[in-house]
Amino acid sequence: MSRLRLTLDLAAPGHHTGDLLLPWSDNANPLGRYAVPVITIADGAGPTVLVLGGVHGDEYEGPAAIMRLARDLRAEDVAGRLILMPAANGPAFGASLRCSPLDGGNLNRAFPGDADGTPTAMIADWLQRHLIPQCDTVIDLHSGGKASVFVPCSLPQTGISPELDEANMALARAMGLGVIWRLGSYNDNRSVNAACARAGVACVAAELGGGGGVDPDHADLAEDALRRALHHIGLLRAAPPLPEGANEHIVEIADPADHLLAPAAGLFDRRCRAGDMVQAGDLAGWLHFPEEPGRAALELRFAQGGMVLAHTARGRVSRAEMLAMVVRAAG
Ligand SMILES: [Zn+2]
Repeated sequence: MSRLRLTLDLAAPGHHTGDLLLPWSDNANPLGRYAVPVITIADGAGPTVLVLGGVHGDEYEGPAAIMRLARDLRAEDVAGRLILMPAANGPAFGASLRCSPLDGGNLNRAFPGDADGTPTAMIADWLQRHLIPQCDTVIDLHSGGKASVFVPCSLPQTGISPELDEANMALARAMGLGVIWRLGSYNDNRSVNAACARAGVACVAAELGGGGGVDPDHADLAEDALRRALHHIGLLRAAPPLPEGANEHIVEIADPADHLLAPAAGLFDRRCRAGDMVQAGDLAGWLHFPEEPGRAALELRFAQGGMVLAHTARGRVSRAEMLAMVVRAAG
């Protein structure tokens, strides 16, 4: 049994808001609950779709798109049931942190979760055992958060079954972002995508920029992509058309060694941008050592050609921190 309790009836037609209440007794809140907000918009027959934002609490483009839909959609605009969780890791979102301040938990590394575990594990358990099995489709909106910046991309997991692989790829294409990042064998089996694969439920995630705020272009992109995915599923009657350049690149992590990690702590003077196409040997940036002013800067070069899917948003970086994620065209 889950200790979590919902304050709303997920099956009720209409537009409703409530909370998933999480009991966790600590110094700040000994007898109360931590709240994870839930919004439902439902009318008539149709699919049940869960849209998650704030799985990481410092990623805001997805939650902005979700709250626009919550503001703008009336029950009669949907066919089926839309369940919106804009701050899925409520404590992390409340603290503006990637991971929960209650337990350090990363919700996208917490599945299948634990009903008797820490707060993040309890949320994962409730999603995995209670909510995801009720859904036809799950859409999980991410971005680079405070730490990094991604080229906007949709993330279908494949290698599950021919039916789910195709459903996930179709969702990814429907989002109409410029890049599809296919998740293959390097996907983490503790993620939302993996939780849905275990439940046999179609799922697509998205990375929608980053930097720890809301870029207006990225938020518009997030809203349009979300509306297109919901239209593809049959939940919304209309959606914006696919933009030019949609789904132009299908990429995957060919080898984690393609990524550029910091060889030492220092100041990363970046010379690349998310979405750049690079060749092996191209300059990625310089690593300066302001704390050791006599030490010469290092030239950092890409080990492998491909696309820069993401880069760090940080200036001062630690040794072995990710500076740039490099992916190759999917084979
Ligand atoms: Zn994320």
